Amino acid sequence: MGENETCLCEPTDILVYTCSGGSNVGQIANQAAINLSNDVQEAKFSCLAGIGGHRSGIIESAKAAKKLVAIDGCPVQCAKKTLEHAGFGADVYLVVTDLGIEKSPQLIADESDTEAVVEKLKKEIIGDEDQG
Ligand code: SF4
Repeated sequence: MGENETCLCEPTDILVYTCSGGSNVGQIANQAAINLSNDVQEAKFSCLAGIGGHRSGIIESAKAAKKLVAIDGCPVQCAKKTLEHAGFGADVYLVVTDLGIEKSPQLIADESDTEAVVEKLKKEIIGDEDQG
């Protein structure tokens, strides 16, 4: 595979999965996963749909990862349940509505709400890393 053919689903240390749901909180979860992937060197956005679809390469990447991060928009927990269905648990897990962000049908990821999610996850991920 050439350099330009590398997918974000390649094995890496920390894989980030998000429900990417059809609501403001689902979109905040999605944008937070993007920002985390951009901001934290070891973290990479990965494909939850590939886990749900039992795609072998994506399952193997999850198996090879040092840590799995899951972000759900609301307590329905679609990302967490999808990972569990494939036999995985999230090492770091966050539900956006747990931060007091109310769910609405608008597909808008509020910037400050997204930042709050990213900062909380960074503390958990980097805090864990610092402690070995
Ligand atoms: S966790 Fe909530 S926001 Fe995310 S996909 Fe499921 S129902 Fe939608």
